[in-house]
Amino acid sequence: METLLRDAVAAAGGEKIRALKVRVGPLSGVVVDALRFAFESMAPGTAAEGARLDVVETRPEFRCPDCGCLYETPVGAYRCPGCGSARGELAAGNEMELESIEVQ
Ligand SMILES: [Zn+2]
Repeated sequence: METLLRDAVAAAGGEKIRALKVRVGPLSGVVVDALRFAFESMAPGTAAEGARLDVVETRPEFRCPDCGCLYETPVGAYRCPGCGSARGELAAGNEMELESIEVQ
């Protein structure tokens, strides 16, 4: 969260931030409530003070190295629906990144 906040403040270029949109993947290990709490404790005194925090929870996505398809699957069932390969590589789902900010 500290890095996200720093990135957001830098991106705002001195403007006051009205809202931040953050993408969080289910495999990132980030707990949304903890993220909000961290934001609320860190934002005061920065350009993001009083800003709204929008959290977008993404779904895990896998790419199959055998047939190349991209698929979503519940955690724990990493099997390609195209060819049945269990060698799928995580393509998304462990991210925590700043998607956008709104400034005033
Ligand atoms: Zn496949």
